Amino acid sequence: MADALTTYRQKRDFAIKPEPRGATAKRGDALTFVIQKHAASRLHYDFRLELDGTLKSWAVPKGPSYDPRIRRMAVHVEDHPLSYASFEGVIPKGQYGAGTVIVWDRGTWVPVGDPQKGYREGKLKFELHGEKLRGRWTLVRINNRKDERQEPWLLIKEHDEEERPASEYDVTEALPDSVVGKAQGARRKGREARPKAQATRRKATATAPKAQAGPGLPPEARK
Ligand code: MN
Repeated sequence: MADALTTYRQKRDFAIKPEPRGATAKRGDALTFVIQKHAASRLHYDFRLELDGTLKSWAVPKGPSYDPRIRRMAVHVEDHPLSYASFEGVIPKGQYGAGTVIVWDRGTWVPVGDPQKGYREGKLKFELHGEKLRGRWTLVRINNRKDERQEPWLLIKEHDEEERPASEYDVTEALPDSVVGKAQGARRKGREARPKAQATRRKATATAPKAQAGPGLPPEARK
């Protein structure tokens, strides 16, 4: 399959623009996750996990919590295209979901167990390797009434070395901003620890010769 995002990349100079380069799924690539903070009529966090070539999506009104005792409502919503993962901007008034969208967090996720089965059966366990969210998490479907159009799930932090009590730390308050426009110096330090992301970047560069920027490529252009 031709890379579906070639045109997207050709239209952008990633050495100048901080937009994500975007990556389509190929066998063996890490699975993408993204959380978009969406200031619609009600603020919520759109939690998206790449699975089977699309982004499985949940709207989490309060956003994630690092406290395993806190269960955050996560309303299952429609799949989004993979390319949506890099979207930031303002959805105009009158349009569905009008309001500002920022990429609040992004990275890769690793399913624990069979993700297709977990998704189908309403219990997905996974590890997140994001810039804000790390460690083990669970999405679990709860009793949905038959008349409910959208399934309620819960997003829960599992116990591990990353957990933090809510009384001590609230990630949505501590780190409210987009990860896209961040200062590059801070990010660059951590890059050695992300070989997977670099491999993806090399591959993407090969299909987008115009975007070759070498060491000047902003870290945001990785995905
Ligand atoms: Mn939304």
